[in-house]
Amino acid sequence: MHLFDLTGKAVLVTGGNGGIGLGMAKGLAQAGADVVIAGRDSNKNAAALEELKAIGGKALSVQGDLRDEKSCRAMVDDAARKLGRLDILINNAGMNIRKLPQDLSLEDWRTVLDTNLTSAFVASQAAYPHIKRSGAGKVVNIGSMMSIFGAGMLAPYGASKGGIVQLTKALAAAWARDNVQVNAVLPGWIDTALTRGAREQLAGLNERVLARTPAGRWGEPADLAGIAVFLCSAASDFVTGTAIPVDGGYSALG
Ligand code: NDP
Repeated sequence: MHLFDLTGKAVLVTGGNGGIGLGMAKGLAQAGADVVIAGRDSNKNAAALEELKAIGGKALSVQGDLRDEKSCRAMVDDAARKLGRLDILINNAGMNIRKLPQDLSLEDWRTVLDTNLTSAFVASQAAYPHIKRSGAGKVVNIGSMMSIFGAGMLAPYGASKGGIVQLTKALAAAWARDNVQVNAVLPGWIDTALTRGAREQLAGLNERVLARTPAGRWGEPADLAGIAVFLCSAASDFVTGTAIPVDGGYSALG
C-alpha cells in the first residue's frame, strides 16, 4: 500500500467540483491526500467539499475562472498557501463547443482553447515553483479520445486535447530532473454533466457509445480514481510523458 499512499500530499484539482475531477479528487482523498478543488461555481464547490470531507483529510476550494490568467495563477498560489505546500496538480477543467469548422467564431475557438489547453499551461507554470519547493511532484493533464481521433464538430476541442498530449511531453522532458513526473489521462466516454449535454443534443449517441466501447458501458467518474492515484503516487515515479487511455477499450479499436 505504501506505493500508493498519498498521506501528507497536497493536491490541486482544477474542475474538481464535479464529474471526472471530483471522481479523481475522491480517489486521492481516499489515498490520504489533502485536496483543493478549483471551479467557478461556488455552490458546486461547496457541494463537492461535503463529499470530500466525508472521506476524511483536508478538503478546501478555490473559486475563479481558469480562462483568466490572473485568476488561474491566484488559484494555484491560494491552494499552496491554504495547504502550506503543493505537490500535485491535476489539470482537469474543460468544456466543449460543438459546431462545424465553418460555423465557429474566433471567440468559440478561443473559449475552448483557453479553457482546455492554455489554462493547463498557465496553472502548470504557476504550480512549478511550489512543486519544486516540495522536492518532487506530479502533474496530470486530462486529454480525451479526441487527443487521438478526429471529429468534424470538434475542431477546437480536438486541437485542445491533442495539444494537451504535446504539452504533457514538453513539461515531462523539462521537469524530469526536478523529479516532477507529468502524464496525461485520456478518458473514453464518461457519464458527466458534459456528456449528458451531448447525449441530449445528439440522437443515438448513447447507443453508439455502448456499441463502440468494448466494455459495453459508459465510464463513471469513479473509474478515473485509480489512474489518478497511480499517477500521483510513488508507484509512477519512473512514468513520465505518457498519455494513458482509460476508456473501456475504446481506443483499442481502429
Ligand atoms: P464537467 O462539465 O462535469 O466538469 C467540468 C469541470 O470544469 C467543472 O468542475 C467546471 O466547474 C470546471 N470548469 C470549466 N470551465 C472552467 C473555467 N473556465 N474555470 C474554472 N473551472 C472550469 O466535465 P467532465 O467531468 O466530463 O470533464 C472533465 C475533463 O475531462 C474535461 O477536460 C473534459 O474535456 C475531459 N473529458 C471528459 C470526457 C467525458 O466523457 N466526460 C471524455 C474525455 C475527456 P465550474 O462549472 O464550477 O467552473
